[in-house]
Amino acid sequence: MTETQLKGIIFNIQRFAIHDGPGIRTTVFFKGCPLNCWWCHNPESHKTLPEKIEGCNLRRGFDQSFSMEKDEIGKEFSVDELMNEIAKDKIFFEESDGGVTFSGGEPLMQPEFLIELLKECNSNGVHSAVDTSGYADSAIIDHVSPYSDLFLFDLKLMNDDDHQKYTGVSNQVILRNLNELDQLGKKIVIRIPIVPGLTDTDENLRAIRGFISYLKNLVEVNLLPYHRAGEGKYIKYGKENKMNETKSPDAKSLEDIKQLFSGLKCRVKIGG
Ligand code: SF4
Repeated sequence: MTETQLKGIIFNIQRFAIHDGPGIRTTVFFKGCPLNCWWCHNPESHKTLPEKIEGCNLRRGFDQSFSMEKDEIGKEFSVDELMNEIAKDKIFFEESDGGVTFSGGEPLMQPEFLIELLKECNSNGVHSAVDTSGYADSAIIDHVSPYSDLFLFDLKLMNDDDHQKYTGVSNQVILRNLNELDQLGKKIVIRIPIVPGLTDTDENLRAIRGFISYLKNLVEVNLLPYHRAGEGKYIKYGKENKMNETKSPDAKSLEDIKQLFSGLKCRVKIGG
């Protein structure tokens, strides 16, 4: 199979994204994720293969009613097909110093497909970013890293027991991969989901700050406030939502957290 015949599974393409890296971006969502974070906004992304999920839709209006519909989540794309989609937005990238962000799910779960897309971006002068949980084999990190301009790297919980409890996996691989990317000289934006009662404890945030203060290629820290936007998907697809009681963090606590990270020699931003 030639490289351009390679296929990948994508579950969404979002245009004009302004929170997934610099400038105006097209965000491509890869299907499949090895984590299962309690606060995930995209629970439909977790399984690797395309799926039809029966969803319950509530029709509001005069005759409020429910209907069951099957949603197709995930579609196969070739490298060429996806690059054609990305090329439609090139003018916006050029005018805003934007580009394309490969997100998910976890893009490193489809490494060969991702690498071909990154190579195509490079040869077409499109800035690229990989938005990752960092949970991947170190060989994949080494393989992918030369082709991406930027990594948006999530850090969630520094205590490994908590990490395992709330995401389903250990953070040891993730922390190793973060150091590896830094040693490879890749530009890194650290993204921290601020989830009240889980990730926003003083102990956790100070531990994250301590860890990332040693990174030489840290360009920005993004504090991503938990929001309930994904809640409807849990209801629609009948998935258990363990965050039912959790509210979004308030503006004051976000400012306090921003202050905590202000000593780092990089930009600190609330939001992406
Ligand atoms: S890493 Fe991201 S996509 Fe995967 S489960 Fe966690 S929040 Fe969801």
